[in-house]
Amino acid sequence: MRILVISDIHANYTALRTVLEDAGPVDETWCLGDLVGYGPDPNMVVEQIRETPQLTCILGNHDVAVLGKLPQEAFNGDARTSLIWTERVLTHENMSFLRALPATVKVRGEVTLAHGSPRDPIWEYILNTLSARLNLDHFTTPYCFVGHTHIQSMFQWNEAKERVSMVPIRVGQVIELSGRVILNPGSVGQPRDHDPRAAYAMYDSEAHTWEARRVAYDLAEVQGHIRDAGLPEKHALRLAGGW
Ligand code: ZN
Repeated sequence: MRILVISDIHANYTALRTVLEDAGPVDETWCLGDLVGYGPDPNMVVEQIRETPQLTCILGNHDVAVLGKLPQEAFNGDARTSLIWTERVLTHENMSFLRALPATVKVRGEVTLAHGSPRDPIWEYILNTLSARLNLDHFTTPYCFVGHTHIQSMFQWNEAKERVSMVPIRVGQVIELSGRVILNPGSVGQPRDHDPRAAYAMYDSEAHTWEARRVAYDLAEVQGHIRDAGLPEKHALRLAGGW
């Protein structure tokens, strides 16, 4: 099965729409949280995700924050401004959809999905081999897919050497998965690796392969929406730089 793996859309509907077109027909879509926050089109993003067939979706820290389940002081000023705005504009139906999302999910006994990490699904960032190693004890499936860092990455457990290594990600390269792996598809709506193109991944659950992908989208359109909504200018600027 061809599975589209997306994360950290952050209310960037333009990027999401472009990713869905670029991915083409898929059997399932797995969304790793942070549908909202930062961006200008939270309702359109949540509605698009709600309508996606064969969807598995989990909660991110920004989603939890707009539900009022996390103190918004935990976020920096510009992120908080956007969260308060999102909470105000999000429809009741879209709020209910977010409220019903789980924090982690195990899919077919093969993949664990968590926004941050299996150990701390809402907050922990898996950015290095140490945090990846510590998290291996917190999921039982061969693979774990996470988001949250907004950086495409792959951490591989090496049984013989008893250590985790970080495997460099090359866009468009199809990687055959084996052993235990933690993978991050990157961020659809706010990449932070200085490449402004929207990031996502294709996972083939029969061939056990992973392909990191990037696609350029209409940045100016999103920046226009951010300014129209009166959201912090920083959110518009960072999209162009990928930070
Ligand atoms: Zn995020």
